[in-house]
Amino acid sequence: MKLRLLVPVWLASFMLYMALVGFASLVGANEGSLAFVGATLIDGTDAEPLEDSVIVITHGRIRTVGPRGSVTVPDGAVVIDASGKTIMPGIVNAHAHVGGTLGLSTGHYNTENLTRQLGLYARYGVTTVASLGGDEAQGFALRDGQFDAGLNRARVFVAGSVVAGSTEESVREQVNSNADQGANFIKVRVDDNLGRSPKMAPSLIDALIDQAHQRRLPVAVHLFYLDDAKYILRAGADLIAHSIRDLAADQEFIDLVKARDVCYVPTLTREVSTFIYESEPAFFSDPFFLKEVDGGILEELMTPERQSQMRNSASAAAYKEGLVVAKDNVKRLSDSGVRLAMGTDTGPPARFQGYFSHMEMQMMVDAGMSPLDVIRSSTGIAADCINVGDVGTLEPGKWGDLVLLSENPAENIANTKSIEGVWVAGNRVPD
Ligand SMILES: [Zn+2]
Repeated sequence: MKLRLLVPVWLASFMLYMALVGFASLVGANEGSLAFVGATLIDGTDAEPLEDSVIVITHGRIRTVGPRGSVTVPDGAVVIDASGKTIMPGIVNAHAHVGGTLGLSTGHYNTENLTRQLGLYARYGVTTVASLGGDEAQGFALRDGQFDAGLNRARVFVAGSVVAGSTEESVREQVNSNADQGANFIKVRVDDNLGRSPKMAPSLIDALIDQAHQRRLPVAVHLFYLDDAKYILRAGADLIAHSIRDLAADQEFIDLVKARDVCYVPTLTREVSTFIYESEPAFFSDPFFLKEVDGGILEELMTPERQSQMRNSASAAAYKEGLVVAKDNVKRLSDSGVRLAMGTDTGPPARFQGYFSHMEMQMMVDAGMSPLDVIRSSTGIAADCINVGDVGTLEPGKWGDLVLLSENPAENIANTKSIEGVWVAGNRVPD
């Protein structure tokens, strides 16, 4: 009552006006309806691209989608003329990280930095990321806060801390601790880092998977070797988070991975990041990269000492060889009908969030996949592989997370870079 007396008549009138007509335009189009009209639609499913489509988003979610003429645009909808353009779902990165990296240093795990990174992913069209490890309370809180219609940054799903340990008991405790915090996945590394560190023992892997499954959580595995990939599949793992990089994936592996419909995330760009800075990479002159990167980082990466260190690194050489094997495996597994999900393992220093997703998609095409298959692997399939049901495809009921492109990426995957705008829950991501 007191407040009402303090509000002058002009202000009361203005507030009434805003409530009736102006509110939607102030807080974002998703308060009403938003319609994209005329675009070629790549919806992230197995469907072929649909020309001259209409997509209606209401309160952040897709209400209707289909060919023009079959979809009614609601009265009062904000209409975006997308004729001659292409719309695809927001990109889903099935192996990323959101963490403490700032510039080329780590140790900056805080809400402000995480939010900055999720904005960066989103501006590159990556609207959902599975952060597979290194997640702390602030990351969980951002995950919890993203199920509302006002969101305008990338969604994040979290694994908590990477589970490691030398006893069954400690492994089970760590799984429980992550589960108690509300983790979406359990992440484990089964790797000896090119022979330089001990690998987790099979009995511990078994205990970890058993405990995760008791808590109804999927297990995502970092690995390198074909034998380990077979082992973890038999043990019940749910996601292969890196490429097999020592040997060609054989029929035994293909049978195992397909029998349980486990997804495989190649993370080819992770390999690239281990050796590419031995000299100036070609992408350092790509405007699509330069528009977001801090120039100081490039200078630091191009210092002669740093370049020669990488050039003379034995592990860089080994990962470079591993990349050749990894690319062959992408082709072999894709041809065999294994579900591949796009992922980059970005987040650590010099693995550039957002930009590397586009590089990864290009590399998957270069490895032998069709552009449309790569788009599916980067949208609908990736969402399914990380168990996020309401993103990844542009179908009724899903979140209105999409990318508007000036060129069609089904014709040339590099066209994923022709971003004109990105929407999350029907909200335009700020430039
Ligand atoms: Zn990772």
